[in-house]
Amino acid sequence: MFDSSSVLAFYHGCAGRCRSIAVVADPARVAPLGGELPDGARFIGAAVGAPGWRAGRAAPAVADLNDCVACGLCLPHCPTYRLTGEESASPRGRIAAMRAVQDGIAVPDGTFEGFMDLCLVCRACEDVCPSHVPFGRMMEAAREQVEPLRTRRSRFIRWLGFHWVLPHPSLVRTAAALQPIARPFMPKAARMLTPARGYPFARLPRVTEPPAGVEVRGTVAMLSGCVQDRWFHRVNLATIRVVARNGWRVVVPTGQACCGALAAHNGRLAIARRLAKRARHAFVGADVVVVNAAGCAAHMATYDELLPGSAVPVREVTEFLHAEGLTARAGSLGATVAYHDACHALRALKIHDEPRDLLRRIEGLRLVEVRDGDRCCGAAGIYNVTQPGAASALGRQKADAVIATDATIVASSNPGCSMQLAAHLRAAGSDIEVLHPIELLDRASAGEG
Ligand code: SF4
Ligand code: SF4
Repeated sequence: MFDSSSVLAFYHGCAGRCRSIAVVADPARVAPLGGELPDGARFIGAAVGAPGWRAGRAAPAVADLNDCVACGLCLPHCPTYRLTGEESASPRGRIAAMRAVQDGIAVPDGTFEGFMDLCLVCRACEDVCPSHVPFGRMMEAAREQVEPLRTRRSRFIRWLGFHWVLPHPSLVRTAAALQPIARPFMPKAARMLTPARGYPFARLPRVTEPPAGVEVRGTVAMLSGCVQDRWFHRVNLATIRVVARNGWRVVVPTGQACCGALAAHNGRLAIARRLAKRARHAFVGADVVVVNAAGCAAHMATYDELLPGSAVPVREVTEFLHAEGLTARAGSLGATVAYHDACHALRALKIHDEPRDLLRRIEGLRLVEVRDGDRCCGAAGIYNVTQPGAASALGRQKADAVIATDATIVASSNPGCSMQLAAHLRAAGSDIEVLHPIELLDRASAGEG
């Protein structure tokens, strides 16, 4: 058990509410703090009853809840806490609410649902947490618990979207085709966000060889995505061209569908597992699966946790190109570009320098940083539709920060962020163009033969 010479007794007095003495092993160790506790020992309080979770649904794991030492270091990094100043809108407050249910003090109800739904699942808290609390995983489980509390209409719309439309590429095509007709009837928040037109009938080439004279370095598979392929098809085409130009044969396997990220983040774990299994089959045999949407790449990297045995060798495209090296000239493009960090790239995949390094190789391109660039833009999957107030406040802040850079282009590697940025830049009267970094590499190298 514990060696008394290395044991540190630590009274945890957070906000005057804590009642226990916690024992942590040598703080120099990298294991989560709570993970070192003997069975039954907890950082805060004592369980008073049977857990209040709904049976038959995922629930946050006790070990994950115990990892939180309620230190509060995550609070200043949480966008919803910064907006509201309320503990209940902070990571620590949300974990305390989950713990209250686990301890049998509360049950998931409307208040609990409100606390969970206001979270962006941006994982900024996870990134700065000294105890490595897996907040994203806990939130996905907590959201599964609150699903039955939603109104019948909300449940129906979610069921339609997550279980029917997104998993079926033909229905996503139909949605993109019908969008211009449906647009006037869409909720204002959704209308403001979605691009005016999609690409309902566009198709990607199944196999793309590197250009003549370019040595083949290997073969990669590519995720086409659901929203990405129908509304950002041009990003997929640019990805294929850039990756192929750099010596890779690009295969777009048939049978793939939505990766399941949106379903998982919204507590629809059963369909998320089905989609993980489908992706596993679609990409079987691939050495590398290149993904150009940060949210999808981050989610696919957790497949094995979601459904053991379904891991796929995912590489976010800028990280892949950076690690493998560009063999083609990056070309030139005279523009000032602001780089927007998608939360899932920055927080979950720890991607920061890679896309910047790639863009700096473009001759004539001046790269500038966005003030408070590590803060979420408020897109967060369907958050900007379900929580329009908080999403708009964050979107306006981000648009103002981008405008202040004097950039003519903002680079964003996630379709949700791109829509949010475009909508709020437009609303602020700005004509700054929103492009994926891969589109900039494609544009710059287009004239390089
Ligand atoms: S989530 Fe991590 S950083 Fe936040 S209060 Fe808990 S232990 Fe501290
Ligand atoms: S995931 Fe983001 S919004 Fe949610 S609690 Fe953590 S920092 Fe706050």
